[in-house]
Amino acid sequence: MIVNIPTPQALDDVALRLYFSAWSSLIRIRQDFDEVYVPGEDPRPTKGQWGEEWSEYIQQYQPELQAVCSVIQQSNELALKARICAVSPYLLLLNSDPKFSTVGRDIDFSELRTLDAVDLPAAVNSLCAKALSDEYVQAYNEIRSLRNKFAHLGHAGQSFQPEELIALLVRQYVELWNGRPWLKDRVSFASRTGPAFFHDGKYSSAVSEVIDELPLIFAAITKSAFKTLFGISKTTRRYLCHSCIYEATTRFYDVNLEKSKTAFLKDNVTLHCLMCDEDYEIRRQDCRVDDCKGNVISESEYSGGDVCHTCGQDQRDSPEDS
Ligand SMILES: [Zn+2]
Ligand SMILES: [Zn+2]
Repeated sequence: MIVNIPTPQALDDVALRLYFSAWSSLIRIRQDFDEVYVPGEDPRPTKGQWGEEWSEYIQQYQPELQAVCSVIQQSNELALKARICAVSPYLLLLNSDPKFSTVGRDIDFSELRTLDAVDLPAAVNSLCAKALSDEYVQAYNEIRSLRNKFAHLGHAGQSFQPEELIALLVRQYVELWNGRPWLKDRVSFASRTGPAFFHDGKYSSAVSEVIDELPLIFAAITKSAFKTLFGISKTTRRYLCHSCIYEATTRFYDVNLEKSKTAFLKDNVTLHCLMCDEDYEIRRQDCRVDDCKGNVISESEYSGGDVCHTCGQDQRDSPEDS
């Protein structure tokens, strides 16, 4: 009999792991550059004052970007296989020509040939309830053929730009995993990487890693993708989440409160955080800090007092008390 039959959940899980691995590699390229060449007025790397340095830097990064492209392709393939597997795992074997033997023995599923990458979009559209969009199939084929070129020739015949690959990843998630909480997934998969072995919550944490890249995340996601991914407009006012700020603060990492707002008002008494995907009850009350115009307050279980969701100050520490 056939053993070790894959499950759609396991395939999808690896697809998402690879997805976020590609994502963090691309963000790290930009973070490393920004650390040395601090962005000026114009934060776009290609247009800012370091445009020339950026383009030299990216040229040097081409082999790594090709590798990232491979990871993206693999993530797409596995996600499509997960969809087919959800209908029946045996459909993945449609093109295989298994050699049967009269001697009874177990066959490991992984030894069998599964559908070729090139056939996956058509297989999904023929076998699964939800069809893939034309734009997705086009992007899938492009990245597959680029990946094949450098797998066989050592180069893809074109240079990769990290921003383009990031935009591709955003579209991939919208197409394949629409409805999942993207930012929560980002944290959850950051806590399952190799380096996450060192996350002890005291010196480093997955939340601080992700909160640190938040400005780049929000800059990379276009207005329409933002609305699809997060269900709110990109211009919706955002607030601090007490829980996420607590989780992100470690001995090695001071949170930049101004740039770490992950929550928004669902209604007048509820704040929803995109990062932990939780709702919090709040009060509309003016913050007591002089120059803060915030009026969304709730008790933080971490400080035991009321804390402003705009400036992050404990209301008991406000100057009016002193
Ligand atoms: Zn949160
Ligand atoms: Zn405040």
